[in-house]
Amino acid sequence: MASELSSSPKAADGIFYILEDPVHPVDLDGDWTFYWEQLIDPSGDRQEQPGRSLKVPGLWNEGESTRHGYGSYRLQVMLGEKHENLGLYIKNVSNSYKIWINGKLLGENGRIADNKAEAKPSRRDRLFLIPEPSKTLDIVIHVANYDHPRGGLTESIRLGYAAALQAEMVRSSSLDMFVIGALFIIGLYHLGLFSARSKKLSPFYFSIFCISISLRNLVTGKTSLYVLLPDFPWDTAVRIEYTTMAIAVISFSMFVRSLYPEELSRWILRPVLALSVLYGLLCVAAPGWLYMKLLPVYQLVIVFVTISCVIAFALAAWRKKEGAALALAAAIFLAATVLNDVLYNRHLLMTGYYIPLGLLVYVLANSFVLGLSFSRAYASTENLTFKLQALNNTLEEKVAERTAKLEEANQELQKQSLLDGLTGIANRRAFEADAQEMLEEKERDAPLYLYLIDIDHFKKFNDYYGHLAGDDCLRRVAEIIDRTASAAGGSVYRYGGEEFCLLYRGDRESAEHLAERIIKEVRAIRIPHEAPGASGFITVSFGFAAMKTGDSDKIDELIEAADLALYQAKQAGRDRYCVSI
Ligand code: GH3
Ligand code: MG
Ligand code: MG
Repeated sequence: MASELSSSPKAADGIFYILEDPVHPVDLDGDWTFYWEQLIDPSGDRQEQPGRSLKVPGLWNEGESTRHGYGSYRLQVMLGEKHENLGLYIKNVSNSYKIWINGKLLGENGRIADNKAEAKPSRRDRLFLIPEPSKTLDIVIHVANYDHPRGGLTESIRLGYAAALQAEMVRSSSLDMFVIGALFIIGLYHLGLFSARSKKLSPFYFSIFCISISLRNLVTGKTSLYVLLPDFPWDTAVRIEYTTMAIAVISFSMFVRSLYPEELSRWILRPVLALSVLYGLLCVAAPGWLYMKLLPVYQLVIVFVTISCVIAFALAAWRKKEGAALALAAAIFLAATVLNDVLYNRHLLMTGYYIPLGLLVYVLANSFVLGLSFSRAYASTENLTFKLQALNNTLEEKVAERTAKLEEANQELQKQSLLDGLTGIANRRAFEADAQEMLEEKERDAPLYLYLIDIDHFKKFNDYYGHLAGDDCLRRVAEIIDRTASAAGGSVYRYGGEEFCLLYRGDRESAEHLAERIIKEVRAIRIPHEAPGASGFITVSFGFAAMKTGDSDKIDELIEAADLALYQAKQAGRDRYCVSI
């Protein structure tokens, strides 16, 4: 590579020698002859037009006073032999030019004039065909600049076979277009992400960054834009170039801050944002010369924010923050491509331009970092949703379980509230409810009988055998009465103390039959009762009364009547029943 470098030819005193054949594309760099404030006659004799020597590529400005103006460049290329189909590839001339070879006009870019009013700048890349084969090329270029701080032939002018130059142009233009399109799509994609989840601002900043660089590349890429719009106005393109640069700085630093707020302090961010907004506004509204002149100052801001962001990435990577290592690696790669392009531009490396690739890699890496944070957020949401759902499911199960238990307990309570604790048969509350209900049954013809059953001499039983034995006796008597009555279709209740009542619907005959059966069954269990005055075994006495259905308000009378009959049975000697109809 070193030998290639040393063998690359240079112009000296306005003459450039090319001895090799075929002619490889070559940059016509070196000392050209220059005529300040002269538009020389392109077919005039070189010897008769003495000019001074000037480096190409380079600026013609030697100070403020020579920034704007016009002049002529001249170079004699000695080919050694006649060559056909050669061409010149002219990239960036500040800002308009007209070119002749061997006295023949090749073309004009923008409009050249010796005054600002008539001149018209253009930044389009051009490929000119050299029409006639010839051994020497006498190149004359008139250049004018009234708009840009840099004047003259600021980039190499390339000579070679037209087909090879064309291929170079297409290659660089395609790479440009590819990067522009990729950046634009990535930008739109992140804008879409942001609109779907506007709480998270990083995709928004990132999309603005991508779209602004895409736009900037479109207007600085020269070939791409002018292939589409050959007459795109120069000053608009320059405004877009400078404004998008400020927007890219703003959006990028906000992006880094939104990702790594602890690593990029707001005390760094604030002045950068303030200066960038100010500079951006100047680029939109101020006259061109002002913001172009201020560019070197703003470039210091860019250098400052770039270093701050790289430090922030490095800190974040050091603290093992998500994606920071990748972002740092990509930033270093981008910085390497920038360095490469500077060195290539100065012919210290023979590699080629790589910034577009660096940018693309950089943007892809950062989209990946953003994607990581999105997918992590998504995963944690999914996880939470899953947990919540599981919790919800068990909650429903638990509620159902508890409700069922409560219902069970409730039913049990209800049942118990209607049962007598000692004997287990229905209690007085149940009796009152049932009696009421049965008396209201309209469609039944048969009368309702109420029996009041009382154990004989029970006080004495308690006194003689003890209260526990009394309880036991109550249980056994209750059970036998309940069983006998249930078999006949009646219902038995503990009315209170050693008294029971029985509701039975039927005719008179079956009612008396049931009464007799109860007396018999109680006698049959033969519970001894040998207290003085008792009959040797437990017996019961009872009275009963009947009532037609539909007289539900007469329940008290019914009880009274049964009670009266019971009293009569007791009077008549116990162990019997009386009827009160
Ligand atoms: P009578 O033949 O005239 O009915 O005489 P009695 O002794 O059966 O009547 P009395 O109404 O004078 O006595 C009822 C007794 O029943 C009084 C009370 O000690 C007893 N007793 C009431 N409830 C219970 C109970 O739950 N358990 C026990 N062991 N005794 C009870
Ligand atoms: Mg009694
Ligand atoms: Mg009694």
